[in-house]
Amino acid sequence: MKCAYCAESCIKRGKRKDRQCYQCKCCKKYQQKAYSKPRIPEWKYAVTLSLHNKGMGVCALAEHLSISASSVLRVMLRLGKTVLPPTIAESDESYEIDELCTFAGNKKNKIWIIYAINRRTRQIVAFCVGGRTKKNLRKVVRTVLRLNPRRIYTDKLSTYKNLIEQEIHKIYPRCTNHIERKNLTLRTRLKRLGRRTICFNRSAQMLHNAMYLWVCGDPFVRIAA
Ligand SMILES: [Zn+2]
Repeated sequence: MKCAYCAESCIKRGKRKDRQCYQCKCCKKYQQKAYSKPRIPEWKYAVTLSLHNKGMGVCALAEHLSISASSVLRVMLRLGKTVLPPTIAESDESYEIDELCTFAGNKKNKIWIIYAINRRTRQIVAFCVGGRTKKNLRKVVRTVLRLNPRRIYTDKLSTYKNLIEQEIHKIYPRCTNHIERKNLTLRTRLKRLGRRTICFNRSAQMLHNAMYLWVCGDPFVRIAA
């Protein structure tokens, strides 16, 4: 049998649900001669990306595309690997950094989206999903510092004082208004961040993936409020 990916020859290697599996001698990928279910077509990937970024949830997407919910999640993970991050070439701009609280699995398991936006373009330039720890905050701050910022506006969280130089660091009431507004956009446009619904985010990995697709997958999102 010939490999579907690189057209080299395959050898028999194991069985899956009583079907013979093959492994390519060159690229080592496992495959079968024929599959019982058809592969998810490319257009469904594009629709998943587009509708996910407009606030559609996993179950609704599954129904819309006539695929299972687990397939939608798999499609999203694959998209996360293929969508490329935008290259940000700018300097001497002002940034706002904030943290958005949500949870993974249950309400006790709090998780944060720490992110930074350009104050002028409102584009998200860096984000991190995880605990509100110094390590995670540093990841975001470092990315912003690489862009040679003119000023960085944050809330009163004391950790920032240790991470950002005093000359460019600004903390005063309502100085993070733009990013607070962005939090609202995020909560409306990402289904898993919505409040007061029975839908919720179940894993930190998928939240990171959803956030990545939202930031990198749709160029229109980055320009809008
Ligand atoms: Zn191959």
